[in-house]
Amino acid sequence: MLSIEKLVKKYGDNTVLKGIDVQLKKGEVLVVLGPSGCGKSTLLRCINGLEIKQGGHIRMEGVGEFGQDISWEKVCEKVGMVFQNYELFAHMTVIDNILLGPLKVQKRKRAEAEAQADLLLKQVGLLEKKYAYPRELSGGQKQRIAIARALCMNPEIMLFDEITAALDPEMVREVLDVVLNLAKNGMSMIIVTHEMGFARKVADRIIFMDKGHIIEESTDPNQFFTQPQTERARAFLNKMD
Ligand code: ATP
Ligand code: MG
Repeated sequence: MLSIEKLVKKYGDNTVLKGIDVQLKKGEVLVVLGPSGCGKSTLLRCINGLEIKQGGHIRMEGVGEFGQDISWEKVCEKVGMVFQNYELFAHMTVIDNILLGPLKVQKRKRAEAEAQADLLLKQVGLLEKKYAYPRELSGGQKQRIAIARALCMNPEIMLFDEITAALDPEMVREVLDVVLNLAKNGMSMIIVTHEMGFARKVADRIIFMDKGHIIEESTDPNQFFTQPQTERARAFLNKMD
């Protein structure tokens, strides 16, 4: 459903993505692995238009080419993203955070959008926090709200960039469980994570990146983790456990 071809991203003279080719099928979970600085976040940010690419094409089935057939503003509705640092608006309650996009961007009716928000809050186990402010929530709770907020825009794809990296260990599970549930329900996702056990469990496809290239791609996560085909992936995995 998503096709990325020859994607190039440069910062000045520094070419950070050197021609990335990757496909995401509907309902598939793509996990992106690789050492710090290899371009994982940049890849996600190029997909939803937070960064301007210098080359290549990103196409979605039934939608067309991003930035050509569909504006980057519209891409943000098709592609939801959650970051490491839950960026909830501090002065707004949970429900107002979630409804901001649906009401202001998508111009939906409050009753309809709020009914969906309630369902999503239930899904992430936080309906009782509907009228709380972000400061009253734990890190794990804030991250689950950030996921619900992204989902309330009805995206076709979700991008997750190390969403548990800033959390205390005891809160990692509750957030990853929400993502595992999304995977079970058929959400198409691209996930950057340093949680190797989770990666192995959730992935349908893995790409391993280094220095702006895809070094290895696998549709067999178990095989990737036990018998990586490249020396660089092997060295990376050895360092991770
Ligand atoms: P990490 O695992 O540490 O999050 P990453 O794989 O996500 O790393 P990126 O954040 O994509 O790495 O960065 C890739 C490269 O691009 C790095 O060399 C980084 O210094 C560079 N880079 C990222 N953002 C910018 C920016 N806004 N301006 C200049 N260079 C940048
Ligand atoms: Mg990153």
